[in-house]
Amino acid sequence: APAPPPARHLFSDPAEIEALRGNLLAWYDKCKRDLPWRTLAAAELDADRRAYAVWVSEIMLQQTQVATVIDYYNRWMQKWPTLQALAQASLEVSVAGSGCSPCPRGASSNTAPCLLEQEVNELWAGLGYYSRGKRLQEAARKVVSELAGRMPRTAEDLQKLLPGVGRYTAGAIASIAYGQATGVVDGNVIRVLCRLRCIGADSSSPAVIDRLWDMANALVDKSRPGDFNQALMELGATVCVPKAPLCGECPVKQHCRARSRKLFGKPTPVPDVEDCGDGCCPLCPPATEPWDSSLGVTNFPRKAAKKQPRAVRTATCVLERRGCHGAPEYLIVQRPSSGLLAGLWEFPSLPLDQGLQEEKQREALADHLQAWTGWPVVARSLRLIGEVVHIFSHIHQTYVVYSLPLDRDVTLDPALSPSRWVTEEEFHASAVSTAMKKVL
Ligand code: SF4
Repeated sequence: APAPPPARHLFSDPAEIEALRGNLLAWYDKCKRDLPWRTLAAAELDADRRAYAVWVSEIMLQQTQVATVIDYYNRWMQKWPTLQALAQASLEVSVAGSGCSPCPRGASSNTAPCLLEQEVNELWAGLGYYSRGKRLQEAARKVVSELAGRMPRTAEDLQKLLPGVGRYTAGAIASIAYGQATGVVDGNVIRVLCRLRCIGADSSSPAVIDRLWDMANALVDKSRPGDFNQALMELGATVCVPKAPLCGECPVKQHCRARSRKLFGKPTPVPDVEDCGDGCCPLCPPATEPWDSSLGVTNFPRKAAKKQPRAVRTATCVLERRGCHGAPEYLIVQRPSSGLLAGLWEFPSLPLDQGLQEEKQREALADHLQAWTGWPVVARSLRLIGEVVHIFSHIHQTYVVYSLPLDRDVTLDPALSPSRWVTEEEFHASAVSTAMKKVL
């Protein structure tokens, strides 16, 4: 077994743990934000409904700010207030050649979207990381069809039995909805714990993450685990924030070793090898990047240097025609059902080789568009509109936007990817990505 970490990085005094729990919970009771999923979880008597409400909020909150999520959450819960309601809504899975399987509303042509299946994607559009909506629905179906509509009752079973539910989400649902005394570790908790215990080794490394889970499980309040976990996350979101933490207002400041280090640590005119002695501590900052007194508590946590996002250029064309009432209509096509932005709709688009000249871009795009128009497109008829940049977590995406007004009708080929004509209003109501909304 690995040697236990040095005491400086642990909570080993039971009296201190008790005091920390009490201080944190008292602060939470006074200062917590009113959030719809908290209200629902506190008032709902049915454990399955409670778990569902927490689950939806946790999935939406992954990589998305609370302020953005609230509105989506309310609309989602209004539309699918229970697991059963969600399980019945079918996801937009129609892909070229496979069709819906089977579509309860009888949509069979793959040039028309399955109405039922696009509901989930449309509601999710704008939240990003679209596969989350799809997985949530798959898991709901599983609970209804294989688990008799009953949510698993422990963190271990939630993680084991539900697709898309990881250790964090399982811990959050189990502690908040069922009162199981189990900790959670998310980005906010990582920051708070690393500061409380001066953990400066790479906070994304498995060794550090394992230690933080041990610590979260040891700290969690046994009588109010859901509130304790939410309090720790709330502290990270509102007080112990990444750049300028409000240490003066912090309810656990007396337990914070990063703060003591900042206030009382010796000045460091020469790099020192942290405080654990020989420079080999697995939880201290690496000897090559010692404590920087100008950073104060924000010395913690630390991450290994991020990989640069990959640069991708894509040509995209807004094909426009006059609809029957004279209003413009635009052609949108559906992306494959897996990979980036799976199943969402976009203008016909084509990834470009790096460094391709504009003339070559036009030619490649014109060839590509022929598949949808059914007749040759002249490259010079494409009008270059400009560029739209969208940053995904790992991709720096540039769309080179062209437009092409059509003066004759186009018969869409059902053998191709699903495609359809939409008005501007329909476009914005469709399951299109934020990047495509920027294009129009
Ligand atoms: Fe974070 Fe400051 Fe509180 Fe420490 S004292 S936990 S650094 S806000």
